[in-house]
Amino acid sequence: MSPTDTLRPVPDTLRAALETVCKSVGTRASDRLAAAHDASHYLLTPSVVVTPSDVEELAAVLEVARTDGTPVTFRSGGTSLSGQAGTAGVLIDTRRNFRSIEVLDEGARVRTGPGATVRAVNTRLARYGRKLGPDPASEIACTIGGVIANNSSGMACGVEANTYRTLDSSILVLPSGTVVDTSLADADERLLRVEPVIHAGLLGLRDRVRGDERSVSALRDLFAFKNTMGYGLNSFLDHDRAVDILEHLVIGSEGTIAFVAEATFRTVPVLAHVATGLLVFNDLAGATSSLPSLVAAGFATIELLDATSLRVGQRDPSAPQSLRNLNVVGHAALLVEYQEQTADELKVQLARVPEVLRELPLADPAVMSTDPARRAQLWHIRKGLYTAVAGSRPSGTTALLEDIAVPVERLYATCSALTELFDRYGYPESVIFGHAKDGNVHFMINEQFDSPEMLVRYEAFTEDMVQLVLGQGGTLKAEHGTGRIMAPFVRRQYGDELYEVMWAIKRLIDPHAQLNPGVLLNEDPASHTQHLKTTPPVEEEVDRCVECGYCEPVCPSKDITTTPRERIVLRREIARARDAGDAILVATLEREYDYDAIQTCAVDGMCQTACPVLINTGDLVRRLRGEDVSAPVQAAWRASATHWRTVTRIGGSALSIARATPSALPKAATTALRAIAGDDNVPEYSNDLPGGGNRRRVIASDQAAAVYFSSCTTTMFGPVGDDGVSESFIRLCERAGIQLRTPDDIPSLCCGTPWKSKGLTTGYATMKRRVGESLRRATQDGSLPVVCDAASCTEGLEILLSSAGELGIRVIDAVAFVDEFVLPALPTGAKIPSLTVHPTCSSSRLGINPALLRVAAAASERVVVPEDWGCCAFAGDRGMLHPELTASATRAEAADVHRAASAEHASLNRTCELGMTRATGAPYRHVLQILDEATRAMRQEPTGPAH
Ligand SMILES: Cc1cc2nc3c(=O)[nH]c(=O)nc-3n(C[C@H](O)[C@H](O)[C@H](O)COP(=O)(O)OP(=O)(O)OC[C@H]3O[C@@H](n4cnc5c(N)ncnc54)[C@H](O)[C@@H]3O)c2cc1C
Ligand code: SF4
Ligand code: SF4
Repeated sequence: MSPTDTLRPVPDTLRAALETVCKSVGTRASDRLAAAHDASHYLLTPSVVVTPSDVEELAAVLEVARTDGTPVTFRSGGTSLSGQAGTAGVLIDTRRNFRSIEVLDEGARVRTGPGATVRAVNTRLARYGRKLGPDPASEIACTIGGVIANNSSGMACGVEANTYRTLDSSILVLPSGTVVDTSLADADERLLRVEPVIHAGLLGLRDRVRGDERSVSALRDLFAFKNTMGYGLNSFLDHDRAVDILEHLVIGSEGTIAFVAEATFRTVPVLAHVATGLLVFNDLAGATSSLPSLVAAGFATIELLDATSLRVGQRDPSAPQSLRNLNVVGHAALLVEYQEQTADELKVQLARVPEVLRELPLADPAVMSTDPARRAQLWHIRKGLYTAVAGSRPSGTTALLEDIAVPVERLYATCSALTELFDRYGYPESVIFGHAKDGNVHFMINEQFDSPEMLVRYEAFTEDMVQLVLGQGGTLKAEHGTGRIMAPFVRRQYGDELYEVMWAIKRLIDPHAQLNPGVLLNEDPASHTQHLKTTPPVEEEVDRCVECGYCEPVCPSKDITTTPRERIVLRREIARARDAGDAILVATLEREYDYDAIQTCAVDGMCQTACPVLINTGDLVRRLRGEDVSAPVQAAWRASATHWRTVTRIGGSALSIARATPSALPKAATTALRAIAGDDNVPEYSNDLPGGGNRRRVIASDQAAAVYFSSCTTTMFGPVGDDGVSESFIRLCERAGIQLRTPDDIPSLCCGTPWKSKGLTTGYATMKRRVGESLRRATQDGSLPVVCDAASCTEGLEILLSSAGELGIRVIDAVAFVDEFVLPALPTGAKIPSLTVHPTCSSSRLGINPALLRVAAAASERVVVPEDWGCCAFAGDRGMLHPELTASATRAEAADVHRAASAEHASLNRTCELGMTRATGAPYRHVLQILDEATRAMRQEPTGPAH
C-alpha cells in the first residue's frame, strides 16, 4: 500500500474543531506518517496527531472527536509490540506534556504523569533506595501510561509487583469526560453520583462473574501467572467497590476504556546486593525441570535461553569463554540472579547455592558471581538476543516479538513444540528466551509481510501456535498486551461467557466505541493480519531499525521537531512514496524533512547510546547533509581546513569585535558570511556569546608524559574569568609534576568535527591528513597519549584518528587524565560548597562521566547532577544556528539547575558550557577551571599563567 492510500485529507471540520480546543494539531504528511510507526508490526496512519498540553485540552479533544464520530488512540512511548498504539483516527500524544514526577513519603510512593518514562521515575526514586514494581526491559522509553494500560511487567516483578498489585490510586478520564479520582475517600459515592449506569453495570458484572463457578475457576487459573489477554477480569474477584473494579479494569485495558491522567504507585526497595550465574543444561528438559527447585531457592530472576539463543549468545564478544567453548547441540541455560537488600542476606542465599546446584542436571559447573563486570557480561548476552536477531534480520523483513505464558510445569512441552513449529514453518533463527520463573517466554520471528506466500505461512504458524499455547492452559499474551495481534483469539482463550463479559465492559464504559476500537476485542477473525507493516529497504542505518523507540527520550530534538525513530521511519515513507511514483508526496516529505530531521539534529549520537541495535541516526543525518552541500561551499570549507589557524583567529576576533559593536552590525555580518559559506554553515550571532579566546600556545618538552591537544573552541570562545581551561589544565599538571608538550602546529589543528557534522567531506579529509601527520610526530608514533580539553573534541579526535588508520595513538579527555594522573597528587583542603555539573553527550559516549564526578567531588562539597540532564544540543554551532533547539532540549534540566541553586556550574566542553549558560543564566565553566581554583586556594599559589 502506498502512503497516499492512507493519507486521505483531514476533513476541514474536524481540523477546525480540534484547532479551537488544542494548540498543537499536526496534519502535515510528515506529522501523520512519522506517528504511524510504533514498535509493533502494524502500521496505521492517523488522520491527525494532537498533542494536548493538559487534561482539560485532552478532554476537549475527546469531546470533539466524539461529536465527529472519529475514534481516538492514546500514544505514549510507542514501544508496544501488539499494535495497540496505532490508529487511522485521531492519535493523541500523551507523552510530551504529561511528564510530572513527585516523590511521596520518602520514596514509599510516587505520583506521576502518564508521559514520564519508567527510567525517569526510577531515577527520581533512586536516592531513596526505591523503584517502581513493574520492570519492563523497555524502561528507558516506555511510560507510566503505557505500563498501566498494558499491565507491563518484566524480569523480576512477576504478578506480585506489577501495576495491578502496586497501583495506589489514579486519576482517570472516561470517554464521557467524567474525571474519576480514585484517591478520594468518597470516590465510589462520587462515581455512583456522576456515572450511575457505569457504577451499577460494574456491580452487575461483578455479581455475574462471581456467580458462575466456571468463570471464577477459569479466572483464578489464568491470572495465577502473567496474563494480559483481554480485560483483567480478576478485578471482579479481587475488588468489591465499583470504583476499585473500574480502576483495576483500566490496568491492561490498552486505552480502550479510559485515559490515565495521573497515577500514584507504591514503590518497592532497590535490591542492591546481587549475584548472577549462568546455569547450562544438556537439554531443555533439564533446564525446565530445574525450575521448581530454583524458584524455591529464592532466585529473583530466572531467565531461559534455548539452544538457538545460546548459539546467538556465543557470537557476543562479551560471552564468557566457557560458553564460547560449548558445542551447543540441544543445550539450554538459565540465567539466575539473587537480589537482596543487604550484604548479609546475599551471603545467606549464596551459602545455600552449592546444595541447590548439586541436585540439578548441569552440563557444566556453575558459579554465582558478584563481580559487576562478569554480571554485566552475562546480562549482555541475555539482553543482546533481541538486538542480535532483530538487527541482523534480512533487509525488507519485519521483526515480530511474541509473548506467551503457560503454567511453569508445562514450559518444557510448550518450548519443545514451539521449536518444532519453527522448523516446520521455516523460521530457523527464532530464539526462545524469557522469564522462565513465570512460565513466560518470548520468541522472535522475522517475516516479509508484503509477500502473499509468507503471509499465508505466518497465518498458519499463528494458528498452530495459538492451539499449542491454549492446549497447555496458557495465555497468548503475558505482558505485552492483546493489541491487534491477539484480539481475534480472546474468545478462544476465555470462552463465550467471559468474552461476553469483556464486551459488556466495553459497551458500558465506551458506548460509542470511541477509544481504540479494534484493539483488545475484535470480531473480525482476520483482523490480526490487516494493516501489517512492511519495511522497504532504504539504506544501511535505516534498514536495521526495528522501530522500538528506545532512542526517543534521549534525543534533544524530541520536543521540537522529530525523534531518531521518526527521522528513520520518514526515510522509509519517502522510499515508499517514491516506489509508488508519488512525486508530490516525495517532494512534500523531503521539504518537511529538511528542517524537521536534518537541520535540527544535533548529530550528538545520544540515540546510539540507547539503541539496542546501535544505530547512530546522527550518522545518517551527517551523510544527508553532505549530499546537500554545493561544490563552492565544499571548496570554501576545504580551504578553511588548510588555513584553520587564521579562521579560528578571525572567528575569535569577530566575536570580540561583535561584543563591542552596536547590535545591528554583527547581524549584517552574519548575513554576508552566510551568502559565502551557506545558510546552514554560519551561526547566528547573539549578544550572550562571549568575545574571542586566547590563541593556543605551542609547548615544547623533551620530558613530556602526554601531548596536549587544546581545542580550537577555546580560541573561538573566550573563557569565563581571566583564563580558560587550557591554563587550568597546564597548571594542574604542573602541580602533579607532569610535563606536557603540544603538536608544533597546534594553532592550525582541529578534531574535524565542524566538517564532519556538516557532511563537508573534502575539508574533513584535509584536516584528517594534517592531524594524523602532526600527532604521529608529536606522540613519537603513539608512544605518548594525546589529551584533549573538550569532551566533544576528544571524541571527534578519536574518530578522526581511527578513520585515518592511526589506531596506535591513545586519545584521553583532560578530565579523565586529571582523574587518573593528577588528582592523586593534588592536596586536599577546603572545597567550594556546591557545584552543579552538566555531563555531555560526548562524555557519556566516552564513558567518562564517573571521572567527571570524581573531579567535581575533589573541588566541591556537594555535587549535583540534574536528574533531567540531557544533551544541550548546542553541538558545536547547532545551538547558534537553531537556538530554539537548545532552548527546547535544556528546558527540563534548566528547571532542575535553578532548584539546586549551586554556588558554581561546570561542564567539560566549551560550547556545551555556552549552551547551558544560555539555558540557565548561570555561568558555566570547565570543571578543571573550578578544580584549579579550589586547589590553588589550598596551596595559596599566585595566580597567573604557569609558563
Ligand atoms: C524491545 C522491547 C522490549 C520490551 N520489553 C518488555 C518487557 O520486558 N515487559 C513488558 O511488559 N513489556 C515490554 N515491552 C512492551 C512495551 O514496552 C510495554 O508494553 C510498555 O509498557 C508500553 O509503554 P509505552 O509508553 O510505550 O506505551 P504505548 O506503546 O505508547 O501505548 C501502550 C498502550 O497504552 C495506551 N495508553 C498510553 N498512554 C495511556 C494513558 N495515559 N491512558 C490510557 N491509555 C494509554 C495506548 O493507547 C496503547 O494502547 C517491550 C517492548 C520492546 C519494543
Ligand atoms: S544524533 Fe542526537 S539529535 Fe540527532 S537523532 Fe540522534 S539523538 Fe537526536
Ligand atoms: S534507531 Fe534504534 S532505538 Fe531507535 S527505533 Fe530504531 S532500533 Fe529502536
